[in-house]
Amino acid sequence: MARYIGPECKLCRREGSKLYLKGLRCNTEKCGFERRKYAPGDHGRGFRKKVSDYGIHLREKQKARRIYGILEKQFRNYFRLADKKQGVTGEILLQLLESRLDNVVYRLGFANSRAQARQIINHGHVIVNGKKVDIPSFIVKPEQEISITDKSRRIAPIQEALEAAGDTTPYEWLEVDRENFRGKFLAIPSLEQIPQDIDERLIVEYYSK
Ligand code: SF4
Repeated sequence: MARYIGPECKLCRREGSKLYLKGLRCNTEKCGFERRKYAPGDHGRGFRKKVSDYGIHLREKQKARRIYGILEKQFRNYFRLADKKQGVTGEILLQLLESRLDNVVYRLGFANSRAQARQIINHGHVIVNGKKVDIPSFIVKPEQEISITDKSRRIAPIQEALEAAGDTTPYEWLEVDRENFRGKFLAIPSLEQIPQDIDERLIVEYYSK
């Protein structure tokens, strides 16, 4: 299945909430969802259809998949992996998604969106524990250090992202030294620490049917 290359704002409108897929634009009045808070398509406005139980579960799964920018097959694999581990499946699923390198680079403020983080990683600008890693789905482990290569520090997307992040402190499970383009993944975040409006129980129920 090919990666979605259509307008990201349509995805937010489809899911009925802001998914923050376009970086800085998402916090401006240009946000497509703020301007048109209804689903795309001919029946998007005014036409309210009753959503089935299956539809509610499906939409939550799609929302999570779109937030983290993951294809269906890969998302299902994350679910299977989470299901095999000991613990609460939904929580483990979100923890796996949060541990992806593209998400960590985004959360550290080295990119304005996960899509941008994926591009930065694909182009070889990111180092994990001293080694270049160009795989966005790489799972970062606690205590691993993430940095930007010396010669990549001046590239515009990274500079813009750092400027936007300013002095903001990152999340509790991360440590960042933006002046030196370095950060650390301190620990796997707990469900309560993950700042994402996703009902993971609906996703577990979706795949368990
Ligand atoms: Fe979604 Fe708004 Fe960002 Fe577009 S600009 S991706 S609608 S949050």
